[in-house]
Amino acid sequence: MSYRVTLLPGDGIGPEVALAMTKCVDATGVAVDWEEVIVGAPAIAKFGTPLPQAAIDSIKKNKVAIKGPIETPIGKGFRSVNVQLRQELDLYACVRPSKYIPGTKTVNQNVDLIIFRENTEDLYAGIEFDLGSDSAKHLIKEINNLSPKKIREDSAISIKPISVFGSERIIRYAFEYAVKNGHKKVSLVHKANIMKYTDGLFLHVGQKIAAEFAGKIAFEDVIVDNMCMQLVQKPELYDVLVLPNLYGDIVSDLCAGLVGGLGIAPGANIGSAAALFEPVHGSAPKYAGKNKVNPTATILSAVMMLRHLGELKAAAALEKAVYDVIKEGKDVTYDLKADRNDPSAVGTQEMAAAICRKLKA
Ligand code: NAD
Repeated sequence: MSYRVTLLPGDGIGPEVALAMTKCVDATGVAVDWEEVIVGAPAIAKFGTPLPQAAIDSIKKNKVAIKGPIETPIGKGFRSVNVQLRQELDLYACVRPSKYIPGTKTVNQNVDLIIFRENTEDLYAGIEFDLGSDSAKHLIKEINNLSPKKIREDSAISIKPISVFGSERIIRYAFEYAVKNGHKKVSLVHKANIMKYTDGLFLHVGQKIAAEFAGKIAFEDVIVDNMCMQLVQKPELYDVLVLPNLYGDIVSDLCAGLVGGLGIAPGANIGSAAALFEPVHGSAPKYAGKNKVNPTATILSAVMMLRHLGELKAAAALEKAVYDVIKEGKDVTYDLKADRNDPSAVGTQEMAAAICRKLKA
């Protein structure tokens, strides 16, 4: 049987890491029929939009997709394709494991945690009002009438919606994952001491769901700034983290940094209708087309995809092959060398080829 999977190579370094990943998945022997669709910069050039409807239709049809990163122009131009995809497909859970891989340079080797980030709400919902726009002026007037605290006239505004529905489904997903995968504790991260209504709601929903899992899964809540410090100093205290969207975005990059950088951090966006796997890193435009960057994050995203498909043996074999290559430290990209200028560093495709050789050994 072959699996039909939507492949979105993305732009920048995306096509290179996507190619490396498909070679490794194919080398596991699992038959995948890659349905490639273009998004990002090449789609703008061809169709005038970074997210053609064909891409969304393909993911909806196949229900499983894997993508390379896509550039988001800062402060202008198109809205983030990544945010649009998450919203269009209602991929409400962003799942990002952070685990020490022997052979990588890290500040602390005791990291083995998994992050569940709410993916559809919060300041990331994309509800924004530009400086000087009629809607911003209207909103400022309304809010200044309603609230004792005043917003300055020369403000831009972003809205932070956090709902009971959105909080419940991500927190429940984190608890259910914890039970299913033998985890012991869920830590809910928030700033409810300041944002009493939005983060407060997220916390109260968490406390309610935690009570249902009492005796099976321990629960704690941690304020986000404290959590950042704790993660740097005592990451071994943490197991499963569940966070609203914006904190989840920031804390997952922090955790990627704890375990050897963006080059090795995988991720998944899961919804009830589809699952989209992707590395945590972005399109790193300065390295595009140079066959230089680390393909590990995308290959480990494919390991998560294989597990999602139920291909547990192939997933374990591919993960082991990646770990073995990194541990040996020979056929690895520049970012995994002790000296980033080490001339013995190999390119993206050469590291993928070494992983394929391990799989076949
Ligand atoms: P980035 O992750 O693209 O790159 C930051 C730095 O991290 C790079 O300069 C490089 O030094 C390192 N790095 C990243 N990936 C690496 C890899 N595979 N191997 C080795 N080193 C790697 O972050 P950025 O520069 O902030 O963002 C660039 C663009 O990517 C922006 O337009 C941003 O919006 C977009 N982005 C997209 C996604 C996504 O598609 N999911 C995620 C994050 C950022």
